[in-house]
Amino acid sequence: MKAMVLREICNLAENRNPLALVDLPDPAPADWEILVRVSACGVCHTELDEIEGRTAPPRLPLVLGHQVVGRVVELGPRSERFEPGDMVGVGWIYSSCGHCPFCLKGEDNLCEEFRATGQDVNGGYAQYMTVPEDSAFKIPAAFSAVEAAPLLCAGAIGYRSLRLTGLVDGQNLGLTGFGASAHLVIQLARHKFPRSKVFVFARSEKEREFALELGAVWAGETEDQPPEKLQAVIDTTPAWKPIVWALKFLDRGGRLVVNAIRKEDTDKDYLLHLDYPAHLWMEKEIKSVANVARRDIREFLELAAEIPIKPGVQEFRLPEANRALLELKERKIRGAKVLVID
Ligand SMILES: [Zn+2]
Ligand SMILES: [Zn+2]
Repeated sequence: MKAMVLREICNLAENRNPLALVDLPDPAPADWEILVRVSACGVCHTELDEIEGRTAPPRLPLVLGHQVVGRVVELGPRSERFEPGDMVGVGWIYSSCGHCPFCLKGEDNLCEEFRATGQDVNGGYAQYMTVPEDSAFKIPAAFSAVEAAPLLCAGAIGYRSLRLTGLVDGQNLGLTGFGASAHLVIQLARHKFPRSKVFVFARSEKEREFALELGAVWAGETEDQPPEKLQAVIDTTPAWKPIVWALKFLDRGGRLVVNAIRKEDTDKDYLLHLDYPAHLWMEKEIKSVANVARRDIREFLELAAEIPIKPGVQEFRLPEANRALLELKERKIRGAKVLVID
């Protein structure tokens, strides 16, 4: 099969072609696994973190990609959940132990043996991949493969972030950053919490306009004071400055949910602006989001079909993966980037 593989950690500013198109043997499904012929794979910020070493994969070479949609073509000897021809999706969760206290209460995202698709095992920047059947999800008929791909990471993790805010209908929600995840979260929030107002903080004018189009009541820059206090904020930026400002705008007892696998160090010293009475006192909380649980993907796909959420996508062919990644790095974003594989 054809695959785009990462051979070594590098700096994208110096190496603009970190992935190489190669021929690999077709994978074969083991006991409880299925073989998927990949139709589309979303391109995620986490791939940049992997390539540049902020979340270096444990072994190389590796096929990246964890927003995978395709058809089941073969079942492993003990696999029974799907039939050949089913359209399924695979997200960041590839496997977990299944019996630790976290797995048993549905927090498989926190399992010590959590293994991630396209990080610990080969992912979807390829024509085929295998996956444990428990970590594959039927794609609702409402979506094409290309439309469904970005839902599997940006969407499912956005759903988890929104869940972790503990927001109640009518309370104000802030979003700092307005990329692939936030533009899905706002649609989700307006559906689940119709009486809540959404306030968006984004550096680029284009992103602020997009936010208002999608129903934000207010959009400003990172430091702009919103007209009302916020009971919850979801941060999806790679930076620290938006965290400090978001804490300031939080209401008493409010919660900031940080949806980032890693923060970049560029503006870390901004944290010295942190002022305990202004930013933390009055029982303000900070919570990070780690990985994604199976239930997040399952529940989000159902909800997305019901709303329906249709992500704006920009298509690339598999050999163009490097260009898609560079455009993501350079923030040429509107909607989500998806590799189309045939
Ligand atoms: Zn992702
Ligand atoms: Zn476990």
